[in-house]
Amino acid sequence: MHSTMQDVPLRIRRILDHGGTVHATSTVTTATPTGTRSGTYAQVRENAARLAHALRALGASPGDPVATFMWNNQEHLEAYFAVPCMGAVLHPLNIRLPGEQITWIARHAGDRILIVDDTLVPLLAPLLPDMPGIRHVIVNGRADLQAPDGIEVHSYASLLEPYPTGYDWPETSEHQAAAMCYTSGTTDDPKGVVYSHRSIYLQSMAVAMPDTFALSTADTLLAIVPQFHVLAWNLPYSAFLTGASVAMPDRFLAPEPLAAFIAASRPNKGAGVPTVWQGLLDHVRTHPSDITSLQEAVVGGSACPPSLMQGYDDLGITLLHAWGMTETSPLGTFSRPPADRQEMRLSQGRLLAQVEARLIDDEDRELPFDGKSVGELETRGPWVTGSYHGVEAPDKFHDGWLRTGDVGYITPDGYLILTDRAKDVIKSGGEWISSVELENHLMSHPSVAEAAVIGVPDEKWGERPLALVVLRDGHPATAGELREFLSAHVARWQLPERWAFIAEVPKTSVGKIDKKLIRLRHADGAYR
Ligand code: ADP
Repeated sequence: MHSTMQDVPLRIRRILDHGGTVHATSTVTTATPTGTRSGTYAQVRENAARLAHALRALGASPGDPVATFMWNNQEHLEAYFAVPCMGAVLHPLNIRLPGEQITWIARHAGDRILIVDDTLVPLLAPLLPDMPGIRHVIVNGRADLQAPDGIEVHSYASLLEPYPTGYDWPETSEHQAAAMCYTSGTTDDPKGVVYSHRSIYLQSMAVAMPDTFALSTADTLLAIVPQFHVLAWNLPYSAFLTGASVAMPDRFLAPEPLAAFIAASRPNKGAGVPTVWQGLLDHVRTHPSDITSLQEAVVGGSACPPSLMQGYDDLGITLLHAWGMTETSPLGTFSRPPADRQEMRLSQGRLLAQVEARLIDDEDRELPFDGKSVGELETRGPWVTGSYHGVEAPDKFHDGWLRTGDVGYITPDGYLILTDRAKDVIKSGGEWISSVELENHLMSHPSVAEAAVIGVPDEKWGERPLALVVLRDGHPATAGELREFLSAHVARWQLPERWAFIAEVPKTSVGKIDKKLIRLRHADGAYR
């Protein structure tokens, strides 16, 4: 029997129309040097139509990538809708990558049109000669850019100005490419993941659910996670779907201006990686700040240290832990346990309904979800990538499942507990040591501001842990003291005998501990 239901494609255009009409008065607030500026979702919808006209006039055709090189702000949000709704493919470039990676990614994606914030023009200008495909640069703000021959420079505001506030959006298939993000290359070369209208639509609904971000018109959501990092975890689309207002910090991401922006824009929810939340916590502990509007903060991208969760608990702000990847759109698990499972707050959370998971051991056997069998996590689902853009990567897939490279176990009631990344696990004398576990315990020591642990080659044991520690100002501690402290939490054979005290832990372009770089530096003799 055929269903009698209408076959209506799941398109981002529907999200735009809904947000821009039903939630016309919801707002996007952007941080500025002197305070904030605000626009409504109705205005975003009108400007998205104008931008679509402008992009079409510049030659953007269905399927063409349109790059952004921007902070989180209203105009970036407008591009989030204009580009996919007109049938083109939104491609937010990660502004924090090394220049040669940015240009490689832009060439690989085939970007021809690029929208840039004026404050990022100094970063972009020297890269343009290595982006030969670019024909048009649209500057959001003051358009003074000396571009190489063959590139036309436009001002965002002047370009949009003549166009109407409506657009005859095309009838795109829900399977058409809508946006693309490259992995930030924490462990490998960057790889392009291409999202469809359907995958974004479904992920947007899942992000809004009561046991995930629980979004509604009553919320104002602070998107600290950059719009170039997995589409800001899909939050902009989810906000338009639910009417939650958004607060966009633009370039004001350092703890002090961020705290000021929170005081001014008064979000009740937020999302970011652990290092950003840690920086904010350290700041508010020592400087009077009003972040009291915040009730919940979602932390993901790397494991949430228990000390971080405790620190926010003390401020009356609930940290909610989530796991995901560029390849999984990103949300795969979310931890909002009920009262009788509070010990699961620090787990990566429960599997979302659409995300199938399995655990595979070294011999390719599937392991039970018994809360103790540890294996590599593999996943599949309607918003999980099945391949990468323009490259073969057979080692990343296994019979149609994505290999996540993450190692852990799953409880019978679906909580995922990651013990480490496969590449970061320390293999010492045939036993595994979790680098994350050592880091988490170290971070709970009062003298430790930051900690990173990697495995380094060892003649006798194969690998042994090396602990890198950043001490808090005025709080000295020795390696012996920290070892003693750790010995209360982990087995003796897991205790690092190699220690280095450093000024700052190297971070990736999205603010995670950069273990690839730490390993390279160690190989160069930096931490001996
Ligand atoms: P990259 O792989 O370049 O860091 P992603 O942002 O896609 O880019 O990173 C995905 C990876 O981040 C996951 O495979 C996992 O290792 C890690 N990760 C994400 N969220 C968490 C979390 N809550 N706990 C532990 N690790 C996490």
